[in-house]
Amino acid sequence: MIGLFGGTFDPVHFGHLRPALDCLHGLGLEQVRFIPLNVAVHRPQPVASPALRRAMLDAALYNEPRFVVDTRELDRPGGSYTYDTLHSLREELGSERPLCLLVGADAYASFLDWHRSLDILGLAHLVVMRRPQAHMVSNARLHALYLEHGSEQIAQLQDAPGGRIFFQDVTQMAISATRIRDLIGRGLSPRYLMPDSVLEIIKREALYR
Ligand code: ATP
Repeated sequence: MIGLFGGTFDPVHFGHLRPALDCLHGLGLEQVRFIPLNVAVHRPQPVASPALRRAMLDAALYNEPRFVVDTRELDRPGGSYTYDTLHSLREELGSERPLCLLVGADAYASFLDWHRSLDILGLAHLVVMRRPQAHMVSNARLHALYLEHGSEQIAQLQDAPGGRIFFQDVTQMAISATRIRDLIGRGLSPRYLMPDSVLEIIKREALYR
């Protein structure tokens, strides 16, 4: 199974990296592909350029060979729709391979508002990572979706290319890119919230000041 982790990564931080590793271990993933978005469709646009967000990811992932950067959204003009990304991944990987889309609880809460959300679930499993301060919001529609697609068995994920929703326990790290940008904006150090290699780039490029 391959894990797919989409985000702005503006910047990447330990709240992405450790939960991704927990998913890799917990689900027995072969690899996790980090997929930085180009043009956001559900949120404000990223502050750092695509090239710098990619450079920060490269710097964060270089010593874990099972973590790889996948630039297909950066290479595609226009809004970065997850459905299009999964469609393109299916062209590369075929229709049978189980794919696990890793999402934080905050992203899951709005999943049904995503463009072609049910088609997304047809193309990949949804693996939800609990996140500190993000209450497990569940409205009636999301609850109904979980009743139909929820699974507590990894074997069920391995046995199908997609279509299941699985809650993965991950290390709870109260870190967000918003907080990091905010600290820097206030002249405070964001040290120890991300790898030093990422911080070096932020300093060198005077990002988020
Ligand atoms: P921002 O604060 O700018 O919104 P972010 O820290 O949430 O950024 P993103 O790149 O937008 O980071 O997030 C990508 C994915 O990672 C989302 O699914 C999000 O829920 C998840 N994620 C981010 N931080 C954490 C965390 N600390 N724990 C678990 N999941 C997280």
